[in-house]
Amino acid sequence: MENVLIIGTGCAGLTAALYTARANLSPLVLAGAAPGGLLTTTSIVENFPGFPDGIDGTEFVMRMQKQAEKFGARITYDTVEKVELSQRPFRVTGGDGIIETKAIIVATGASHRHLGLESERVLERKGVTYCATCDGALPMFRNKPLVVVGGGDSALEEASYLTRFGSRVYVIHRRDALRGSKIMQERALKNPKIEFVWNSVVTNVLDVKQERVTGVALKDVKTGQARTLECAGVFIAIGHAPNTRLFGGQLKMDPDGYLICQQGTATNVPGVFGAGDCVDRTYRQAITAAGSGCAAAIDCERYLASLES
Ligand code: NAP
Repeated sequence: MENVLIIGTGCAGLTAALYTARANLSPLVLAGAAPGGLLTTTSIVENFPGFPDGIDGTEFVMRMQKQAEKFGARITYDTVEKVELSQRPFRVTGGDGIIETKAIIVATGASHRHLGLESERVLERKGVTYCATCDGALPMFRNKPLVVVGGGDSALEEASYLTRFGSRVYVIHRRDALRGSKIMQERALKNPKIEFVWNSVVTNVLDVKQERVTGVALKDVKTGQARTLECAGVFIAIGHAPNTRLFGGQLKMDPDGYLICQQGTATNVPGVFGAGDCVDRTYRQAITAAGSGCAAAIDCERYLASLES
């Protein structure tokens, strides 16, 4: 039987792995369908303290993994299919069989919502990105027109942030009213570098043949009119979906599926802890995910100690 099973190998899961390994708990870590998490989808991480020259997202995750393994974490690439939390030990079924464990740290992260265009997929990391904070300062975007897709707080925040780098920032929104908070709306609407393109959807990202972003094809949903807009980057900010479906009916979640944790990282099931983007709908940064992974590991360690006393 395992002491602790960590589900997820993003920043939160690997930090939890490092801390529980150093507590001699010999954690088993399941990488799941997206090993390394969202960080591996960004090019350079420039905002994690300690890396003044930035670091490639994938390399960063690999280093965290190596560090956790050095202290005894065991990482497998199994994907969880089923969890049973109503019994002790907990039972987790993956492709490799059933695992029994005294405690679980859920660090399954969140997935960026995608527009669903083939060109979006092909040009990801070649001008299409899902994180302005991570990628906005890259040289390829400097002093060039940029596009943000979405009308919520994320899109407004990304657009405001990108005005530091781009020559102009176009916000493409499918309606004529923003979903974001009033203060963020006001800030974005009065920013002279931001231009809103209302009632419009992106129908194609250009130019797959050139293997880089040169513009977007747009359609006005009211008039049906099509046009193209030149840009060097497309920042898609149409929301995130926490990867928590697996725990439906067992762990408490808010209406959008984010885990609800109390007293630190405790879920409603004693012995099950939540960390990272599957819990956090506000900050969603590598450093905050790592911090909550650390907190979950400490909470877990205390829980396991309490079982023995
Ligand atoms: P969100 O509020 O769900 O907004 C998503 C936006 O994307 C909406 O405007 C939506 O359009 C649009 N959208 C969704 N699917 C689309 C599609 N397929 N094609 C085109 N557009 C699409 O998500 P979010 O902006 O990530 O915010 C999530 C939560 O985090 C919110 O509660 C937000 O307040 C919070 N947040 C807060 C801050 C902050 O306070 N600093 C920053 C970021 C996020 P419709 O409006 O038509 O639905």
